[in-house]
Amino acid sequence: MEKKAFVTKEQIEQITKEYPTPFHLYEEKGIRENAKRVQEAFAWNPGFREYFAVKATPNPFLINLLREYGCGADCSSLTELMLCDAIGMRGTDIMFSSNDTPAEEYALVDRLGGIINLDDITHIEFVEKILGRLPKTMSCRYNPGGVFTLSNGIMDNPGDAKYGMTTEQIFQAFSIMKEKGVERFGIHAFLASNTVTNEYYPRLARQLFELAVRLQEKTGAKIAFINLSGGVGIPYRPDQEPNDILAIGEGVRRVYEEVLTPAGMGDVAIYTEMGRFMMGPYGALITKAIHEKHTYKEYIGVDACAVNLMRPAMYGAYHHITVLGKENAPCDHVYDITGSLCENNDKFAIDRRLPQIDRGDYLFIHDAGAHGYSMGYNYNGKLRSAELLLKEDGSVQLIRRAEKPKDYFATFDGFDFYRNLKL
Ligand SMILES: *Cc1c(COP(=O)(O)O)cnc(C)c1O
Repeated sequence: MEKKAFVTKEQIEQITKEYPTPFHLYEEKGIRENAKRVQEAFAWNPGFREYFAVKATPNPFLINLLREYGCGADCSSLTELMLCDAIGMRGTDIMFSSNDTPAEEYALVDRLGGIINLDDITHIEFVEKILGRLPKTMSCRYNPGGVFTLSNGIMDNPGDAKYGMTTEQIFQAFSIMKEKGVERFGIHAFLASNTVTNEYYPRLARQLFELAVRLQEKTGAKIAFINLSGGVGIPYRPDQEPNDILAIGEGVRRVYEEVLTPAGMGDVAIYTEMGRFMMGPYGALITKAIHEKHTYKEYIGVDACAVNLMRPAMYGAYHHITVLGKENAPCDHVYDITGSLCENNDKFAIDRRLPQIDRGDYLFIHDAGAHGYSMGYNYNGKLRSAELLLKEDGSVQLIRRAEKPKDYFATFDGFDFYRNLKL
């Protein structure tokens, strides 16, 4: 599929009059349309709820947009919980799918009334000690082990992953918790990441639905929901076919009617915890070419770096790049697009065919809306950029200001970092 930028060069020239590059820009229209499609895809299931994976894009303005479509939030840390608390999320609005969880986080999620999704059987006792009881609703994360393969070869290796309980443990956990008074149970699993195929959720659903039937039979635990978690991918590369969420929802429905309904479990709610699919394509990193360098290779230096978008440096991930204003120019140059970190992996693209780039050109780095800003860090003392929302009426809203040096120095006391620099 052709990858198109959701802004023009002229729009960016307007925006940069007020907000200098680099910044993350999110598209309200795309976020809304996609969230609506997700709701439609699972409308057949009355209890359906998408719990947006906060870690993907922890911005309260964006989470509030998703809430208009019924979304809750999936958290896994103290500050993610605090963020949800601050925007008034409560009770079953919050799913807590954490692992290696500190005591204070369980205490906070319980105070907010969120749903605890246990990563490990030993945490039953841990939670009970902290809270003095177990909540009436509890979920467990399942890890079937082995490898997970789909027909197009997409594969992950649950057996190597730190998450979740073994089959034996989840049976044991449900029995123990039932005995301790838990009344409503959930099952969760995340077995493959960024799957660009409509097959993943239905395959995972079959595995979890069959497990649910056995769990309910064997332990008598009342299964209230099954959480398919995240992992629905997006086409980072132009040659990839995007997922069709309506086909995915329909695929899950077929398996539901085949496995759960005949077992008398037609009241089970389906939950999801998508991050990437909800936000990834609707955010971009906007950066300006500030240098060109001709040595053994051709380099374009931009004003963003890996601290703004870590995926290429960390995973060698492909992010498509559009040179704004040169959408139709021939891609007859080969560049490495680099940031300024003192790290040779600080490259947004390597040997990428692009139109000729001149200093001052704006680059639109696609699909940075999830796991983009949020993975940012401060290496080399670089500061995190602003986040902007391109509204449906064409205006732009600052939804997080850029960091300033004072933010970077905030954890030191007793120095004057500014004495030779009046800002
Ligand atoms: C990261 C994560 C998600 C979201 O994953 P995506 O690939 O962004 O959909 C959902 N649930 C849990 C527990 C996660 O850790």
